[in-house]
Formats: sequence, C-alpha cells, structure tokens
Amino acid sequence: MIKKLIRKILGTKSKAERDTSAPVVLGPDAHGIDPRLLSNNAVRVTSTLQEAGFEAFVVGGAVRDLLLGVKPKDFDIATNATPEQVRKLFRRAFIIGKRFQIVHVMFGQDLLEVTTFRGTSSDNAPKDEHGRVLRDNTFGSQAEDAARRDFTINAMYYNPANQQVLDYHGGIADIRAKMLRIIGQPETRYREDPVRMLRVVRFAAKLKFDIEPHTGAPIKVMAPLINNVPAARIFDEMLKLLMSGHALACLQQLRTQGLHHGLLPLLDVVLEQPLGAKFVTLALDSTDARIHAGKTASPGFLFASLLWHQVLEKWEAYRASGEQTIPALHLAADDVLESQTEKLALQRKIGSDMRDIWAMQPRFERRVGKAPYKLLEHLRFRAGYDFLLLRCASGEIDAEIGEWWTAFYEGDEAEREQLITAASQPASSGGAKRKRGPRRGGRNRSGKGGEGAEGGSNAVGDGSHGEHD
Ligand code: ATP
Ligand code: MG
Repeated sequence: MIKKLIRKILGTKSKAERDTSAPVVLGPDAHGIDPRLLSNNAVRVTSTLQEAGFEAFVVGGAVRDLLLGVKPKDFDIATNATPEQVRKLFRRAFIIGKRFQIVHVMFGQDLLEVTTFRGTSSDNAPKDEHGRVLRDNTFGSQAEDAARRDFTINAMYYNPANQQVLDYHGGIADIRAKMLRIIGQPETRYREDPVRMLRVVRFAAKLKFDIEPHTGAPIKVMAPLINNVPAARIFDEMLKLLMSGHALACLQQLRTQGLHHGLLPLLDVVLEQPLGAKFVTLALDSTDARIHAGKTASPGFLFASLLWHQVLEKWEAYRASGEQTIPALHLAADDVLESQTEKLALQRKIGSDMRDIWAMQPRFERRVGKAPYKLLEHLRFRAGYDFLLLRCASGEIDAEIGEWWTAFYEGDEAEREQLITAASQPASSGGAKRKRGPRRGGRNRSGKGGEGAEGGSNAVGDGSHGEHD
C-alpha cells in the first residue's frame, strides 16, 4: 500500500503495473550503443524500408548484443511491411517459413531475416492438444510484437536512423542487472512453445545471466513438454546450444534444469562415469575454443563425442556376446544412432559423419603395412584423428597411440616407414601390440594415463575437424 503510494507520487511503476503498450525511448547517451558494431547491410535494410514509407528496426538478439557491447553475429529486422511488401523492395529476397512467414534478404553471403510485426492474438491460433501454437501469421503492432518475444532482453528495437532504442518490457534494466526474465506468464509461454525452456538455458549460460525466479520455477515440472516438439526443431535448438561457445555451461544448465532427459537421455550416465565426463568435457572445451577463435565446429564431431561412451558400452556388450570387433562396433553405432534419432532428428549427413568417426577408431590400432597410409587418405581422417586424440587425452586409451599418429601424420616418407617398422616390433619396443577395442576402467595399461589426460588441449591438436566438412 505504502509502496504503491510512493510509486504514485514518484510516477514510477512496478513490473506488474508497467504499461507495455508504449515503449521507454532511449537516446544514444542513455543506451550507449556503439554504431560501429552495426552491420552495413542491417542499415541498408532498415533504411530501404524506411525510405519506402515503412517502419523498420533492428530487433531481438542483435539489440541485446549491441547493448552488451558485443558485435552481433547476425541481424534480425522487424517492420510493419508485410512479407510481400518487403520482398518487392530487395533484389534477392525470399519468403520462407510455415509456422511464421519471414523474408530472407541476401547480400552476397550475408543473410538478414526480416519479420513483420506479429499480433498477440494467438488465442485463435491453431494449437496442439498441449497448447503448443502450431501456426500463427497474424500481423500486429510493434507493442504486440514485443509482447510475443521470449525475454525482456530480446524484445528491444533499435532504429539506426535516429539511434533510438525502444524498450517495452524493461529489457534495459534487465541487461544491466544481468537478469533473464521471460515476458508474460512463464507457464503460458512455455506451454505455447516449450523450446523457450531450452532458450532459457542457452541464454543464461551464454550471457552468464541469472534466471529470474519466476522464469526458472516452472521449468522442472514443464520439462516433459519438450517431448511434444518436432524433433527437427529440437535439433536446431540443441545445435545452437552446443555451438554457442558455451556448450559445457549449457549442458550443465540443462542438467540443473532437468531438461536433458528427453534430449540426450543417457547424458547423466555418461557424465557420471569419470572417463565419460572427462571425454565429453574435453570435446566441449575444444568446440568452445574453436567457436571463440571464430572457427567453425562440426556437428558430426560434436554429437559423435557426446554419444561415444554410449557406443563404447554397447560395443563392449556386443563383443562380450561373441560378435567380432568391427561388426560389434557397427551394431553399437546403429543402436545409438537409432535411439537418438527419435528425440533428436540427427540429419542424415551428421549421422553418417558420426558413424565414420566411430568406425575409424579401431583402424587407428592397425599400424602395420599399408593400413596407416590407407587411413590417412580417408576423407574424414582429420576428424577421426582429432577424436582419437580426445580419447587419449581423456585416459580412455594409451597416449602413445595418439603420439604415434601425430608423428605419422606429420612425418615425411622415411619417418613414416620407420614408425611402421617400430610399431611392427614386439610390444616391448613400442607397445604396438595392444588389445583391440576400448579399455574400460580409469587407469591405462602403460600407466601413462595421467600424462595423456594432462595433455589436455595440446593432445587434442588444433581440432581442425570442422574445416574438413
Ligand atoms: P542469438 O544471438 O543466439 O541468435 P537471438 O536472440 O537472436 O540469439 P534467435 O533465435 O535468432 O535468437 O531469435 C531472434 C529473436 O526472435 C529473439 O531475440 C526473440 O526476440 C525472438 N524469438 C526467437 N525464438 C523465440 C521463441 N521461441 N519465442 C518467442 N520469441 C522468440
Ligand atoms: Mg539471432
């Protein structure tokens, strides 16, 4: 009551009372965005639309990143022009999308997404039996568009022409407080689109923001709704999560929020085994490092890593039941890929990359005759080799085998011949004859496990598997 009175006198509003139909407008001095972080093409699109008499703004993640002083990786544009009106204004523009129509505007390799302000009337939109919105193309005002966005920090509009930021939901304050807050009633928003729960995880981990308590509270209970989302969409979001440059933090958040059950169901098991945890951690660290260095990372390599310890387990089980090493590995790979594709629509190309990487592993053990040369010619050798180094670094296999392959890979003709000769000698002279297949348990036979494991990022090489895609 007293608080209300004070607010009345001061003219301030509580979050619940804030009028979200009109934005708070901030000029350059108040928001501090550096216009040099803006892409020329983003300005080109907004100004073309504005010159044609429409409203146009940079919106969403790009505004959030600009406010954080980070160069946005892509720019989304929001406008009151319809998709058809947008398309006509640009030479290379394509209307795409089923659930929501958007326009892709291309300048060379650069792609900008232009969306028409969306209306809030999702009450009438077709939904599935759990309340998930299936299709919704109603256009609306900017205020309605803002209310449909996921988080307060993702619902701001920047007009490059006058350098103003329009903030409808207290996004600026939340950016400053490093707070991830969903717009509207959290339960309703997650029901409409359960993927928003994954987005909470991704943004919290990536931006190192706290999750506002009401935003986080329903997630554990509502997590099973994820099962109801088409697998392809889950896959896209998982990929964004894993390629965010903060993959490990994201997976930890997924576990904390209880969201991983439907996604990578065996992740718990993997992360609870010391070797599995070490392996996954190394793989994700090397992916994060690549992303931070501005390199690409290969989804096939990443998923092959995440699921490797499941493959190992099944591989061993098949061998124990009498299968030969190689067929046993293929059967294990089939099982794992099959069980994952239900939840996570792994695209065929990614699935086949994963299989290649796994299937190559026993071939690294054959260091006689022409076999190593043949393997070197494998189209995906580099990915298989990087994967081998991860296995060494995690302590799963002897570090020696990785060192041998590094020397072989980098060596000249004479050095390679020497390496093969040395590897063909009895075990005492170089440990060439070792048990095929995976070695379970924490220590490795030569006692070099610690050393291998410490090898960390060095042992993982430069991880250039992505470049061979
Ligand atoms: P990133 O930097 O990772 O691309 P982003 O915020 O730009 O982050 P996008 O997935 O590119 O994320 O989405 C662009 C914008 O669209 C978001 O900022 C948000 O405003 C809106 N948006 C995206 N997905 C949803 C969703 N599931 N529900 C509501 N709004 C969404
Ligand atoms: Mg984006």
